[in-house]
Amino acid sequence: MMLGEFDPQNLSNLAWSFAVFGFLDVPLMDAIAAEAIPKMQDYTTQELANTAWAYDTQKVQNQPMMEAISQQVLESLATMQTQALMFLIDVDLPCHEALKTVASKVVKDFSKGFPLKLEDWDSERFKAAIWNLRVDSFGKVGTRVLWDILGVREAAGDFSIRAELEIDKVNAEDGDAFISGSDDKASGRKHQRVFAYAEYDIEPPLGESEIRGQMLFENGFRGVRADIKWLKHTPLPVSSWVDRSLCAEMQMVTMFCSKLMTEGLAGTAELNAVMHGKLMVYTSMPPCLSCVGVLWQFALHFQRMDLEFANGSGCRLESFMKR
Ligand SMILES: [Zn+2]
Repeated sequence: MMLGEFDPQNLSNLAWSFAVFGFLDVPLMDAIAAEAIPKMQDYTTQELANTAWAYDTQKVQNQPMMEAISQQVLESLATMQTQALMFLIDVDLPCHEALKTVASKVVKDFSKGFPLKLEDWDSERFKAAIWNLRVDSFGKVGTRVLWDILGVREAAGDFSIRAELEIDKVNAEDGDAFISGSDDKASGRKHQRVFAYAEYDIEPPLGESEIRGQMLFENGFRGVRADIKWLKHTPLPVSSWVDRSLCAEMQMVTMFCSKLMTEGLAGTAELNAVMHGKLMVYTSMPPCLSCVGVLWQFALHFQRMDLEFANGSGCRLESFMKR
């Protein structure tokens, strides 16, 4: 089949596959663009997202293509699903500011479901708000908008650099990991590992030594699980089969709380209320909304802990647009 006979789905699949496998072929990407631009009005949101992501990830400079995608994205904005919207604002598109305006409104409405007091936290209501939006993650830009509304500061750049170095170390030890026993192995696609890193600094009780440290956790079951009943994860609507109790951030926060309880520093409302210090969290991918909820529950339990957050961009499309 010649490229000229490709429909939008074939064209977007082709661009997407090359980007997923990391094969950079600029003449091919330009040829795809030449075929795609006149057909752009027939692209579905998913095809637009896949294509935009492919050009952005590969850093293929094709301005007419990005303009054409932007125009089509703006035309479908009114009916676009939140998940697609939050994905597309993380791609470097000419329509970025317009998308951010719409997304910020969605996030602002959603943020009203975040109570400022622990007794007002309602896991069922939180879940319902997420399922209404049919979204698993607000992505990099959308999550930052949410944290800004909630008053969770961006962690400093040097902290993010330390986090990335620690994560790189673990990644290098295992080399090129492949998912075993899955379709991804057959396709030879690299499994993307997802990490959460944190540093904490807690004011010790009078006369005791400082409580400082770092933690690094990875997504998935690692044999131990801290069961902290007062921090609840939330099943999410898009990838509903994923067990959010195994998210790196969730495991990290629950293990941290469990450690604090063992050391007699947390666990009762009185202890939690006086614990004072700082927790900085970095995630290698934008967090899912279940983990955002867990971090917020942590902030409600420990009102005197200063929570700061930063995240890498990760390769989110692999989970969002997987077919
Ligand atoms: Zn998560």
